[in-house]
Amino acid sequence: MCAASRLLCLCDVMPKIELSTRICLVVHHRELTRSSNTGLLAHRALVNSEMRIRGEGREPLDLKDLLIPEYRTFLFYPSDDAVELNKDLVGEQPTPIQLIVPDGTWRQARKLHSRHPELKHVPRVKISAANNSIFQLRAQSRPERMATLQAIAYALRIIESNLVAAQLMKLYHLKIERTLIGRGLLRQSTERAQGNEELQ
Ligand SMILES: [Zn+2]
Repeated sequence: MCAASRLLCLCDVMPKIELSTRICLVVHHRELTRSSNTGLLAHRALVNSEMRIRGEGREPLDLKDLLIPEYRTFLFYPSDDAVELNKDLVGEQPTPIQLIVPDGTWRQARKLHSRHPELKHVPRVKISAANNSIFQLRAQSRPERMATLQAIAYALRIIESNLVAAQLMKLYHLKIERTLIGRGLLRQSTERAQGNEELQ
């Protein structure tokens, strides 16, 4: 059974998406307890995905074992030397892609360089033009401000298909909606709207 309250539970709408692209999320344990965390949803929705948890009291993570020839591995991180994740890059080789995705705040993610010397030679990729209409609902001005699930949806839209991206974005919007209802925000705004109607 799922630990979320019935209102916030997304089990009923959770897709099970099987892809040749592999996603590996690297998450700080504290991030997992935040209601705003969406990385866990990406992990639950994507069959070919994994979550590595780091944080206090744990052994430092060694991600060396991820670097296997079955995948072209990229680190999803917008550093200065990051190359644009686009169809040209994806089409360069037929080998499936593995994307290592730092979850949580990008400030924490920035430390990934020093924390993981084994990833030093893994090419960094970024997405800079997140202006497709399905990504505008949250009006993210900068891609690094995107929620993890959104960022993964955008990446998989390029690597895989629009359909995969749309499934993940639908999940993302349901997550927002149910979080707002859980906080009492959505109903409040509905009541306010009804109140306004009565005034007219
Ligand atoms: Zn559930």
